Amino acid sequence: MPDVLVVEDDKDIAGRIIDGLRAAGHHTRWSQTGLGGLEEARRRAPRVTLLDLGLPDIDGVDVARRLRTEHPAMLIVMLTARGDDMDIVVGLDAGADDYLTKPFSITVLLARLRAHLRSRPNLSNRTVLSIGPLSVDPGARRCRLGDQEVELRPKELDLLIALATRPGTAVSREKLMAEVWDENWFGSTKTLDVTMAALRGRLATAATSADVCSPVITTLRGHGYRLEVP
Ligand code: CA
Repeated sequence: MPDVLVVEDDKDIAGRIIDGLRAAGHHTRWSQTGLGGLEEARRRAPRVTLLDLGLPDIDGVDVARRLRTEHPAMLIVMLTARGDDMDIVVGLDAGADDYLTKPFSITVLLARLRAHLRSRPNLSNRTVLSIGPLSVDPGARRCRLGDQEVELRPKELDLLIALATRPGTAVSREKLMAEVWDENWFGSTKTLDVTMAALRGRLATAATSADVCSPVITTLRGHGYRLEVP
């Protein structure tokens, strides 16, 4: 049974959902905040997230958008209060797959999950990208170089994933900003240069200790970057 992350600030509702999921054989994780949920999703790459839209820290729709960007294959089901039609529309546009209106029965929730999981083979979360000695596992959010595990910060890993899914291909700065940071980014792109410098540094250090060639990320002036295929 796939892992399910429950992002819900209401203890009673969360408890009821988690009891039902566990009884059906799912492993569950619980976060009471949006930011905590995003962290948990990065750590565990659960196959399913049940996401309350009314969270104490950040907007649930924002959480849905970020989850979709970081976990393309994740099944995201929003939990909404009755009458929040606009939230449902915005949430589905942001990348959620489905919604349930509170109060809902656990039996219906489990049936919806079964239906979605039947039609959605667990593919892209388990795809490992291999480029020479470099291997990147977006589902597990791991990076290895030779036999060394490379510890990367979340944005460094996101940046590497964005390049490693298109090895040998030029990727523009705008595309990287949109994929790794925010599709509506209007600010400075200096953060991209800083993150790229950190990523290159960590890869070079790991390559030295693994005794392999460091992956080469070429800067394309006035355009963006390219991860070279050795
Ligand atoms: Ca709530």
